[in-house]
Amino acid sequence: MSDMPSVSAAPTLRETAPGFAVAQAILKPRKARPFYGRHPWVLDTAIARIEGNSQDGDVVDLLSESAKFVARGIFNSQSRIRVRLYTWANEEALDNAFWFRRLRTALELRKQLGLIDPEGGARLVFSEADGLSGLVVDRYTHWLSIQVTGLGMARRLDEIVALLVEAAHPRGIFVRTEKGVAQAEGIELRDGLYWGEAPKGPVFISENGLRYGVDLAEGQKTGFYLDQRDNRRAAAEYFLGRRVLDMFCYSGGFSINAAVHGHAHEVLGFDSSQKAIALARANAELNHAHNVHFDVADGFKALEGLAAERQRFGGVVLDPPKFARNRAAVDEALRAYHRLNRLAVDVLEPGGILVTCSCSGQVSREDFTYMLVGVAQQTGREIQVLEMRGAAPDHPLAVTCLESEYLKCFICRVI
Ligand code: SAH
Repeated sequence: MSDMPSVSAAPTLRETAPGFAVAQAILKPRKARPFYGRHPWVLDTAIARIEGNSQDGDVVDLLSESAKFVARGIFNSQSRIRVRLYTWANEEALDNAFWFRRLRTALELRKQLGLIDPEGGARLVFSEADGLSGLVVDRYTHWLSIQVTGLGMARRLDEIVALLVEAAHPRGIFVRTEKGVAQAEGIELRDGLYWGEAPKGPVFISENGLRYGVDLAEGQKTGFYLDQRDNRRAAAEYFLGRRVLDMFCYSGGFSINAAVHGHAHEVLGFDSSQKAIALARANAELNHAHNVHFDVADGFKALEGLAAERQRFGGVVLDPPKFARNRAAVDEALRAYHRLNRLAVDVLEPGGILVTCSCSGQVSREDFTYMLVGVAQQTGREIQVLEMRGAAPDHPLAVTCLESEYLKCFICRVI
């Protein structure tokens, strides 16, 4: 680690030996099962008491009611997820070498997937799915964009950044924090360049042989929706000669794939964000996609307007933002998905293709499928699911934390 930059570990950390516990979280009776099953989130309601003086960001051991070691994690009194677990091996410290091993393992997968393309974009670290709860790292050519979603990672940001510099050799690293997440975890809001140099203007990435400008400083999330990479390509295959509507288009990914790879006859893309539409237009131009038109509009209103005008499409893509942020919001979210998909079916010609997505982790695949059942019943149209897809493989699903499954993308034919 000789070429490590001179960033120091956060001063607030207190550890006995580096990476070992300063305190113990004792589980309530009969609450240990999920954690023996390696689920990484210990909610406040599962913990009977804390023994020792643990401050936010400290390493703590999770013990059963009878004081047996279960796992080791990081404490946060401000979050409902009181302890995030990282190792189930008693001898393993959560030290610098540990984080490096986890990052290396995550990077190896992306290499294996062929996604360490210096011209491309990929998710290098996907939180729980890579054993690094609270850390997301996306790569856009020579730049990294980090989203911190847990306090433990936020407190170790300097350490993580130094390790990423060593493992991935970026030119610059941005850190983006979402307001809601920062509040839920008690993390300081950060937004901007954290290490190294900033690119001059947007970073241009290649994906599926197409080029996109990514705004690392002000784009949505970390700048681009990498999870839809393979779905954009798959959807395009169905659009030959069709008129396609791309609703919630962001920077135009589905539209441009439909036009260039799918040879769609014409594509209309809508998004409520002016910045997104500006990016989408620039991206269409960059790829010489001249039969694609983007406009700012609310997705629901635009669909209602198109239906009222009796406009018809051979393909509709629906990729709305997250509708359900928590369990309580699921029913309401399902009603919104129902309304949206119903409107889409109304503008689809017989035999039209519906590409319908949901990125609400709280809405299960089953819930989403039943939503479509309701749409089929109410519209009297048959919906045939042709492909049930998920996120691209650089966004894996950890079977020990099924919450890491969030993206549904169904490609359907509507008769
Ligand atoms: N399909 C895109 C990603 C979409 S993300 C891609 O492939 O990259 C969801 C998008 O919905 C965001 O760009 C956001 O600006 C937009 N959005 C949010 N609320 C909206 C609304 N009510 N109407 C239209 N667009 C909306």
